[in-house]
Amino acid sequence: MITATKRVPFLDLAAQYRAIGGELGVAVEQVLRSGQFVLGEAVENFENEFARYCECAQAIGVSSGTSALHLALLAAGVGAGDEVVTSPMTFVATVAAILYAGAKPVFVDIDPRTWNIDPERIERAISPRTKAILPVHLHGLTADMGPILTLADRHGITVIEDAAQAHGAEWKGSRAGSMGRIGCLSFYPGKNLGACGEAGAVVTSDAAIARTVRMLRDWGQEAKYRHTLKGYNYRMDGIQGAVLSVKLRYLEGWTQARRHWAARYDAALAGKDLQIPARPLGFRHVYHVYAVCTEARDHVRSKLDQAGIATGIHYPTPVHLQPAYADLGYRAGDFPISERVARRTLSLPMFPELTAEQVDYVCEALGEALQSSR
Ligand SMILES: *Cc1c(COP(=O)(O)O)cnc(C)c1O
Repeated sequence: MITATKRVPFLDLAAQYRAIGGELGVAVEQVLRSGQFVLGEAVENFENEFARYCECAQAIGVSSGTSALHLALLAAGVGAGDEVVTSPMTFVATVAAILYAGAKPVFVDIDPRTWNIDPERIERAISPRTKAILPVHLHGLTADMGPILTLADRHGITVIEDAAQAHGAEWKGSRAGSMGRIGCLSFYPGKNLGACGEAGAVVTSDAAIARTVRMLRDWGQEAKYRHTLKGYNYRMDGIQGAVLSVKLRYLEGWTQARRHWAARYDAALAGKDLQIPARPLGFRHVYHVYAVCTEARDHVRSKLDQAGIATGIHYPTPVHLQPAYADLGYRAGDFPISERVARRTLSLPMFPELTAEQVDYVCEALGEALQSSR
């Protein structure tokens, strides 16, 4: 029987700091010396590097993934009376941003295999008021963009990608964030590319969108004290720009490590009585989260906890059933696939610095937990 002699954290940011802390210190020190604490050169440098990384003409550094989503929606002209189609199986920020813009979120259930918005269900959700589709690339696997882009094109609707979990993910060779008109990324510390605090970015190859987002993040100014738009204080910190430039150089290696551990999980868990993440052909999954689905989720989770293994649930409640959004008028049963996945999903430890021993230990403990649930 497995006892908690070992510990496997869900995420280990201290391990990352041990590897690159020296470099981060130098970069932060430079910002401290420069006195450019808000926007400035460090942010501009990062924007240029990150735009290239996302294969977009421009990246605009903002204060969080949430502000990226809010500004993307505003720049796309989404406002009061408009509807935005999205998935209920997401972090609450996706939906909050739609409401910040004054629009109405319209949910579409997910594909039971990928846990991303089901393109086949989108058309039925489109009305004359639909202004945008906001697919979420959940866990680091992009939504099925082909049919989504075709549908959006046919209806003249903007596609805004919530790529907050999908830095470097690809669909048919295209980078997450570059496929729709606008992409939104988060650099929350636990994301695949994380700041030392809050930060986010909007990426786009649409010059007009980029210009509007740049103005909106900085009080709607087109020149100092000339406020053409009603804007926000959504600027990125200089220190975050400097930190992100350093970390961006490691991102590809970290992504490869995540994919390596995911393949090890896949191999060890195949054939067990649970659902592992889909690997659809032509998609590059970046495994922000490695989640499995099992009927025995709560039992398995407590057994893993007893074995010293930390797990997460992304997410235990779909957004349409969150108390704060009861006024949207949805009820239990409206999106049965999302609700079923929410009851069964369990996220295993996933971070680049994992070891083979840790992954094998998790798989062994998971196997025992499944056996003891019968
Ligand atoms: C993290 C996240 C956000 C919000 O990003 P913040 O930087 O925390 O504001 C939005 N959508 C999804 C899917 C996320 O995972």
